[in-house]
Amino acid sequence: MPEKSHRLPTTVTPERYEIRLTPDLTTWTFSGEEKVSIQVHEAVREIVLNAAELEFHSVSLKLQNGTVLQGRSQLDSENEQAKLSFAEAVPVGRCELQISFSGILNDKLHGFYRSTYKDSNGREKPLASTQFESTDARRAFPCWDEPACKAVFQVTLIVDEKLTAICNTRLLRETLLPGTGKKEVVFADSIKMSTYLVAFIVGEFDAMEPVMVGHAPLRVWAVPGKKHLASFALDIGKSSLEYFSRYYGIPYPGDKLDLIAIPDFASGAMENLGAITFRETALLVDAKKATRAELERVADVVSHENAHMWFGDLVTMKWWNGLWLNEAFATFMEMLAVDAWKPEWRRWDSFTVSRAAAMQVDGLKSTRPIEFPVERPEEAAGMFDVLTYEKGASVLRMLEQYLGAEAFRDGIRLYLRRHQYGNAETTDLWDALEDSTKQPVRALMDSWIFQAGYPMINVKKDGPALCLSQQIFRYLADGSDQDRKWHAPIFLRASTKSGEVTRTILLTEKEQRVELADEVEWAVVNAGGHGFYRVRYGGDLIDALKRDLQNSLSAVERFSLVNDSWAATLAGLTSLIDYVGLIKLLREEDDLNVWTTVIGSSHQMHRILDDEQCRSLEKQLRALFSPVIERLSWTPRKGESELESQLRGDLIAALGTVAEDKACQERARELYAQYEKAPDSVDRNLVPALVSIVAHTGGSTEYEKFYGKFKTAQTPQEETRYLFALANFRVPDLIDRTLDLTINGEVRTQNSPYLMRGILLNKRARERAWSFMKTHWDEMLRQYPDNSIPRMCEGIIGLVTAELEKDVREFFTRHPVKQGAKQMEQHLERLRVAVICKDRWQGLLRS
Ligand SMILES: [Zn+2]
Repeated sequence: MPEKSHRLPTTVTPERYEIRLTPDLTTWTFSGEEKVSIQVHEAVREIVLNAAELEFHSVSLKLQNGTVLQGRSQLDSENEQAKLSFAEAVPVGRCELQISFSGILNDKLHGFYRSTYKDSNGREKPLASTQFESTDARRAFPCWDEPACKAVFQVTLIVDEKLTAICNTRLLRETLLPGTGKKEVVFADSIKMSTYLVAFIVGEFDAMEPVMVGHAPLRVWAVPGKKHLASFALDIGKSSLEYFSRYYGIPYPGDKLDLIAIPDFASGAMENLGAITFRETALLVDAKKATRAELERVADVVSHENAHMWFGDLVTMKWWNGLWLNEAFATFMEMLAVDAWKPEWRRWDSFTVSRAAAMQVDGLKSTRPIEFPVERPEEAAGMFDVLTYEKGASVLRMLEQYLGAEAFRDGIRLYLRRHQYGNAETTDLWDALEDSTKQPVRALMDSWIFQAGYPMINVKKDGPALCLSQQIFRYLADGSDQDRKWHAPIFLRASTKSGEVTRTILLTEKEQRVELADEVEWAVVNAGGHGFYRVRYGGDLIDALKRDLQNSLSAVERFSLVNDSWAATLAGLTSLIDYVGLIKLLREEDDLNVWTTVIGSSHQMHRILDDEQCRSLEKQLRALFSPVIERLSWTPRKGESELESQLRGDLIAALGTVAEDKACQERARELYAQYEKAPDSVDRNLVPALVSIVAHTGGSTEYEKFYGKFKTAQTPQEETRYLFALANFRVPDLIDRTLDLTINGEVRTQNSPYLMRGILLNKRARERAWSFMKTHWDEMLRQYPDNSIPRMCEGIIGLVTAELEKDVREFFTRHPVKQGAKQMEQHLERLRVAVICKDRWQGLLRS
């Protein structure tokens, strides 16, 4: 079938690869040889496998009887395949394919790619690393590059004798090759695994002493001079790996585990078995100087990747449509492990912020189901989004809470034991969970996995009963999909005349009545906030909740109330005035996540409203934020939690930027000056706020200072903090300078697209930024990693005027974004929602 031409035939499958590669870090090329033990299932004259940007030099096949057949290769660059043909038929059975080839170390941060960094003397140093997921192993060696084609990999690298070489497995031996300045580094056989998990890294690297986790040494690697930033990652690395061995009931499947920071890296990290690669900010951190949020990010990413060693690496999805199984699960497990490691961070509470981010996209008409058919590889690339990770993890959490944590874990153990070293599909997970819990898991989960969107649950009081009904939630209601239904676990907590009641109900119908013993005073329908739905309370119920927000609702429940109300406001179901009235009730609020959603909505309002409306908004926000900051004070109190310190920073940042409080700005600038003289005299969780306010109000002196700090930063966090702060200056000349930075080579291409996104979201810079992006579009496509283009384009949601929206639509009709069609549709719809609100809110909030 022509439409399946990119899929490999199943007549031949690989069992074991021996790969020998010689990378040249001066010419950015490599040469390679491989021997692949293959199983021929039916006699063939042709073997088809994947290859891209590779040149084949020789192909031969050694049959079981010792006969060697010479082959010819023909490359099909469209489908990224190589067709190897032989003069006679290759018989059924096992034989050995030998190929010699060469390729390039590219600068697109995929396949076998190059990266550089400056050493302590300012000299540029090269290194080479790999990033194969989803389909780029084929750029490094010819292979059956599909996740179901699991095989054993044995890698040998020939590298300069002073360099370090790292691979998925432990080192077997290193032998100097006399007279060449090179050495041969031979690694052990891997477990049976998919090609996208193979990794090799070559360069100057330092590691701290390993710690043992069971039988496996765990190390953190960094380019020279950064080893001292590794200990935090090593701690969470060990803790999470031990946590997962216990949770899964299966020991870590590799023979060692290296966590490696790569200076140029397209995503956050990559779960290569035994050799996990990271961007530096996600692994290397100064635990004494970094903010809590920066530390949490490292803990999250390390735990996430470690969780993949089982979920993803040991058991792998059959095809890319099942990617969510890998990613949603790793995201869910990441929360469990970080929560167990640092309960004081209340990681599941802050997960509500991620859930809300998923609900924001999933409330669009242009959303998609978590799992959907994937044919071509570029469609797989488009699945690395908030729906796969955050919605996926949210519905797993909802299921776990519905089934009970232990019952859920037992089902997961069964699933992993059944499919280890193999591949599985979504349905296999439900089988295992049903076998282990005897609950109708499939029916429940199918409504969430294969159906896009989520419901709004309407709740009305009817004497001693509650009437629940469900209806799809959409920001832009067009009357479609009204018959959609979900199996929604309802976690109910109600106060009745005769006491408090808690109950778990499965809402499966459009409408359902819940009888309670006595008349309801107030009710919470998403108690604990685990449900992936929004709730809309009837008039008397919402009034009852509002009367005593701090006591009747937990922090997570208050978050849901505010967040659902903001979504209803954007959807036109609630008026802007009502929303502003609700957040004004939060005078006593001290929860970080509740304020995160309020601050987020404040920035969104500010982007939408006109100048006069913004002045009124700023005034109301000052009245809202100031008393809370006064209560918290500007200096940390003895014994306060890290979450409180972060809240102080976030609120001060909001007061000094979106609320334009002059006194706050003045004080922040003074405090920043003090921080420069005596860094330890200012709480680390306050520093990002000071930096953002200084940028927001700053001129060229501050710009020069921040630019210099970006260039000379001592930690990855400091580097990105000052780099991204450059997007927040508001003076036209300075905006132009930051725009230039996005393409002039001074900023790594792993960061430039996100810098560009930041400038688009800066209200004072947005028109300049948009015009710059249009002019330099081709240049950006050429320079940036493919996966970052749709993410950069998220910035267009800030272009909230009817004229800009029209221009944006025209531009992307002429320049469709490859690998991101779905995400682009979503950005455009979010922009539409904002422009509609701009219209709808005219005349409101004027002072
Ligand atoms: Zn992942």
